[in-house]
Amino acid sequence: MRELDEAFLETLGPQTRAVRSGVTRTAEGEHSEPIFATSSYVFDSAADAAARFTGERKGNVYSRYTNPTVRIFEQRLAALEGGEQAVGTSSGMAAILSVCMALLKSGDHVICSADVFGTTSGLFTRYLEKFGVSTSFVPLVDLSAWRAAVRPETAMLFLETPSNPLCEVADLGAMAEIARASNSLLVVDNCFCTPALQKPLDLGADIVTHSATKYLDGQGRCVGGAVVGGAEHLQEIVAFLRTCGPTMSPFNAWVFLKGLETLGLRMRAHSEAAMMLALWLQQQPAVEQVYYAGLESHPGHALATRQQSAFGGVLSFVVAGGREAAWRCIDATRVMSLTANLGDAKTTIVHPATTTHGRLTQEQRDASGIRDGLIRIAVGLEDVADLQADLARGLAAIASP
Ligand SMILES: *Cc1c(COP(=O)(O)O)cnc(C)c1O
Repeated sequence: MRELDEAFLETLGPQTRAVRSGVTRTAEGEHSEPIFATSSYVFDSAADAAARFTGERKGNVYSRYTNPTVRIFEQRLAALEGGEQAVGTSSGMAAILSVCMALLKSGDHVICSADVFGTTSGLFTRYLEKFGVSTSFVPLVDLSAWRAAVRPETAMLFLETPSNPLCEVADLGAMAEIARASNSLLVVDNCFCTPALQKPLDLGADIVTHSATKYLDGQGRCVGGAVVGGAEHLQEIVAFLRTCGPTMSPFNAWVFLKGLETLGLRMRAHSEAAMMLALWLQQQPAVEQVYYAGLESHPGHALATRQQSAFGGVLSFVVAGGREAAWRCIDATRVMSLTANLGDAKTTIVHPATTTHGRLTQEQRDASGIRDGLIRIAVGLEDVADLQADLARGLAAIASP
């Protein structure tokens, strides 16, 4: 059967690889990738079974660690991130957990950005702490704070860039230098940009994690995650998944691998629409401040311009009048979905201070700039004019409810 070989594909562009990488056709000659809904595989003989179990012969054994549909997703994502290997996981949190369980040990120390996804900081403080791994939290963009937090036992630096919801931008090249100088791994959660806009491995990161639930799917259907990086680290992580089990399901892998085909187009569209709305919001009298790295007024603008190919779909803004005004604005929108999720074709709107960041104390929110009037939107793929009209409706409701 006519097949594209991976060596030839590697010479082609990223969009071509997003559509074509990892495909191995079955004897049926299907065009779209099949879903292998099977938990196990049969062997030709007892000797064949023995050889596949030892790994002497390559081949499928059991879908906790070998499934052809999951493998297509992994190859495609590895190609897009520019990593040697990728592995799918059952969720974004499972991806982060797998990295930690495979590569950290009791006594190690982690330095983590204070602006990571809330559940991520919970993973470090509630669970890794129990097993003797301690974590220090530092402001994402304060390089001297990262350097000052380094200890002899520091083994991992963990961050997300741009941050949620204020879109602060970390200098990945500088962070990679700190990681090298402290003999620790730089792990980057690339959920917000995806490889379509930013490639942390090219900028010196050792490992990339993903919540595939967000933009890789792009239409809010499935929960999943992934880890990408060099083969040496990935072998350890694959071994952890094989033994401990937070594996990606074949159906979810199929949804994500089809999502990767349109990822570049979608991320460009999300970014363009977010840019238009950010510029418009900046001119509205009811809006005190807009946070979007695409705006020249944003402190991370120059850096984002250098290390990202666009600025992504998430932005936030502060309305005058605090919590009451923000709630009124949100409640008056009609098109946007009121949900904390993001990375969907459907635009979402949320009040961080009382939802995603609601468990923080007022003091912690003040320290991280989560003001009561702050509203976050994750711009989807609807007509921008309709989204703008929706926000105009929201802003008008602040003045006259
Ligand atoms: C959602 C999210 C996660 C967790 O992913 P799940 O798929 O929900 O487990 C991790 N990091 C970031 C930045 C996220 O937005």
